[in-house]
Order: sequence, then C-alpha cells, then structure tokens
Amino acid sequence: MTIDNFNFDGKKAIVRVDFNVPLDENGHITDDTRIRGALPTLKKILKDGGSLIIMSHMGKPKGKVNPKMSLAQIKDAVAKALGTEVEFAADAADATAAAEALKPGQVLLLENLRFHPEEEGKPVGIDKEDPAYDAAKKEMKERQKEFAKKLASYADVYVNDAFGTAHRRHASTAVVADYFDDDHKMLGYLMEKEVKAVDNILSDIKRPFTAIMGGSKVSTKIGIIENLMDKVDNLILCGGMTYTFAKAKGGNVGNSICENDKLDLALDIIRKAQEKGVNLVLGTDCVAADAFSNDANTMVCSVMEIPDGWEGLDAGPETRKLFADTIKGSKTILWNGPAGVFEFDNFTAGSRAIADAVVEATKEGAFSLVGGGDSVACVNKFGVADEVSYVSTGGGALLEAIEGKVLPGVAAINGK
Ligand code: AMP
Repeated sequence: MTIDNFNFDGKKAIVRVDFNVPLDENGHITDDTRIRGALPTLKKILKDGGSLIIMSHMGKPKGKVNPKMSLAQIKDAVAKALGTEVEFAADAADATAAAEALKPGQVLLLENLRFHPEEEGKPVGIDKEDPAYDAAKKEMKERQKEFAKKLASYADVYVNDAFGTAHRRHASTAVVADYFDDDHKMLGYLMEKEVKAVDNILSDIKRPFTAIMGGSKVSTKIGIIENLMDKVDNLILCGGMTYTFAKAKGGNVGNSICENDKLDLALDIIRKAQEKGVNLVLGTDCVAADAFSNDANTMVCSVMEIPDGWEGLDAGPETRKLFADTIKGSKTILWNGPAGVFEFDNFTAGSRAIADAVVEATKEGAFSLVGGGDSVACVNKFGVADEVSYVSTGGGALLEAIEGKVLPGVAAINGK
C-alpha cells in the first residue's frame, strides 16, 4: 500500500517517526528538521479524518526510563507544528485506553520507545561472552514481538516514516509491521522520498560522481568508504580522519584526533583507491589550534607538520580550494560529515567551502545528496539546505542504503 492511495478517514494510524531531535541543556529543541520532515505524512492522516498515534525514540536510554530523553519535552513543539493539541502517553507499552479514546483528528504521542529494552530487542546487563547470552537474546526477541504486538494493537494501520532508524530491526521500525496485512502498512512520504533519493544516486549515476566523507573517525565510516570506492570517481576524505591518513603517511599530527590503530587501514584505502582508479582527495593543509576551543590560537600548517601541542581542527586554504575544485565539476555528489569542528564558529571554513561548492555544482545541474546528522546541521547552519538537491534525515540508514544493504524498516513493508 502507498500512503497516497490510502484513505485514513475514521482510521487510527500508528506512525513511527524519527523525533530524535537535538535538545539543549534546558530541553529546548535546537534543530527541528526531523519534526518538520514528518509533517506531510502526519498532516495527510489528519486531513483524511484519521487519528494519530505518534511513536519515536530519543537518544540512547538503553532500555531505562531517563527523563532527559523524555519525549514529553517535545510534545508542545509537535503540537505547534501540527497545529493541534497532542495527548501524551507516559508509557508506550501502556497506552491502550489513550489510543482507544482517540477521535478523528486527535493525536497521541507515545513516550520514548527505547525506555523499553524490547524496542531494540537486545538483552541488557549481560555480556556477549556470557554463556547465558544466547538464551537471554532469544528471550528478549520474544519480548520484542510482544511489545511490537502491543504497539500494533493501538491502531488500524501502520506507517513508517522514520528513515533515520530504517537500518535497525527494532520493534517499532520493523517487527510491528508483521501484525498488519499488506493493505494496512506503508511507508510515509519522508521514507518514500528518502528511498527515491538513494535510488537516484545508485541507479542513475551521472559522472563525475564525487563523495565527500568527513566527520571524526575513519573507523566508523570504513564500510561505506570501501563500498564507495567501487562507485565514485572522486573521494574526498576530510575532517578528523585527515590526521589518521597524514600520520599513516609519516606525518607529525601533533595533538590532532588520530586513530593510531587504523594507520594500516588508511594506507590500504590509499592503495585501493589507486588500484580502482579513484581520485582520492585528502587535505594538504589545516587550521591548527593550540586547544580544542573556539577561542584557541590558530595557525595554518601542513597536515604533515603539526607541532606538538597543536591540533588540526579545520581544512586549510589550499585544501579548501582543492575540495571546491573537485566538487565543482561533479554531476553527482554525496556529502556526509563535516570537514572540521564546524560547531565552533572559527572552524567552519572547510565545511563552508564544501557547502558552497556543492551548491554551485547543484546550480550547474548536479544531483547533490547531503546526509548524516552533522552535514545536515552544517547546511542548516550555512542556510543552504534549500540549495542542494536533497537533504537526507538519515545518517547510518542513508549510508547503509548507499552501501546497497537492505533496510529492515523498508523491507518490513515492501518485502525488499
Ligand atoms: P561523525 O560523528 O564521525 O560524523 O563526526 C562528526 C564530528 O566530527 C563533528 O562533531 C565534528 O566536530 C568532528 N570533527 C570534524 N573534524 C574534526 C577535527 N579535525 N578534529 C576533531 N573533531 C572533528
């Protein structure tokens, strides 16, 4: 079933959204992109005359109640975005009465699903090495089914619009779908758009295809980096991983973030890029700081010669030009991860240069996909989110989809 073909009139819809929005220390939302992203789906259901049961996770409470990650904090923001009142169910597993009471047009927000270990379906408090682990895992999988069944019991129809968690087989993202027939489960508009954007990147690659991978570490991105090497013409690796590469090549990286146990891996990536004819673009110079602080003293130096006591926090001017030149001629662009500690205003230049070049290439006709929490925060910070082709809400999910992996959240609905 597709959301456009379904009439929600008089129906109760349980919708998995990704409202894992960043909050400041006072519990105020600092970026509401994810809430805005789910609105088309939520509004369509209400407009049809349906009622809404909204469910999401927030943060990593690891199966325990944690007020700092309570969705009660965002209830008013959701109500404001929807333009209607929102009821709150303080326990996602005990909302039968609240769901039953819903009338068409009414909205119920469930408390953070991950307050229940059943959501993720992983046994808690037991080590993987423990001989009892397998039995605990099996038991938790059964409990996960029961939890999913409970969630399913609240509604007539299930909609998954949480692309950010589509790569997880959790109770609310996949297992719950088992309790609805094909005519009563569907992807939301955001999910449809995300799946299409990935399809666009993978099925119709206009060349040159440039991928820009940044962020702090090589280790968390290695899967996608290796996979991308079979697809891209240019691979820009930037951000904190620059220094692991520089050190692997014999440089002195001072106090820069560096994964000393990944030096061989870095050399391996360089070798593979050569073998595959991929133009691997690494930073040559950086803006180094004498402390991890926005107000630190700075200097521009080679990434190979960072003095002790200094750390590379942003791309240098030569690097920025190199990245921009590579990006500008591209016809397909994927950007995940910042080129520096963009959260500090004095270290945004690298990420800004990338954003500007991606915007320019997009104006020239390139398809540009920006994804992953931090790159999205970047394009928002620079005010250019509307000037790239597509801003994905997914980090891990986007990367796994581009790696060609089946996303359980999508498969649970489409069967593929
Ligand atoms: P990730 O979660 O791996 O995508 O990394 C995102 C984080 O990488 C952001 O919070 C950036 O501040 C950080 N980052 C980028 N460049 C650097 C750098 N040169 N040193 C330390 N952290 C960095």
